[in-house]
Amino acid sequence: MRQRATRDQQRLDSGAVTSPKDLENLQREIASLAKRQGDLEDIVLEVMERRESVQERVAELTGRVSSVEAKAGDAVARRDSAQRELDEEAAGVTKERAGLAGSVPADLLKLYDKLREQQGGIGAARLFQRRCEGCRLELNITEINDVRKAAPDAVLRCENCRRILVRTSESGL
Ligand SMILES: [Zn+2]
Repeated sequence: MRQRATRDQQRLDSGAVTSPKDLENLQREIASLAKRQGDLEDIVLEVMERRESVQERVAELTGRVSSVEAKAGDAVARRDSAQRELDEEAAGVTKERAGLAGSVPADLLKLYDKLREQQGGIGAARLFQRRCEGCRLELNITEINDVRKAAPDAVLRCENCRRILVRTSESGL
């Protein structure tokens, strides 16, 4: 378009076009080409501005993606570390349990395992301030008296949940 405008201008300047009508047409075409060029320049400017704003947005989003990826990586590392700690703890507790189970009479261990299965994983509970910590119920006075009379090595059971009751200095007897 620019070439065409230059060519038109050259023709006009050369004096080759002499007819007033042709001269007028040529001038009109030059004016029209100039206006179109101006319009196109506006469009180019607008497109460039939009491209700039899109590039800014892309940079911003790329930054956010990096930040989220870093956080996710951090969370995965923390989870893996927690998992390792839990595995180590489980291995330690399993070993400890095996050692303790060896010192418990076989029939008592059998009863404990049966209760543990029936009572959601807890077969024995501490008697704490006259309360069974397995079912949280307080023992009545008759039950407390029975516990008081029992031999120190007797296996006591909670009348409510049937778990083995473990006496301590804080049992409230
Ligand atoms: Zn109980």
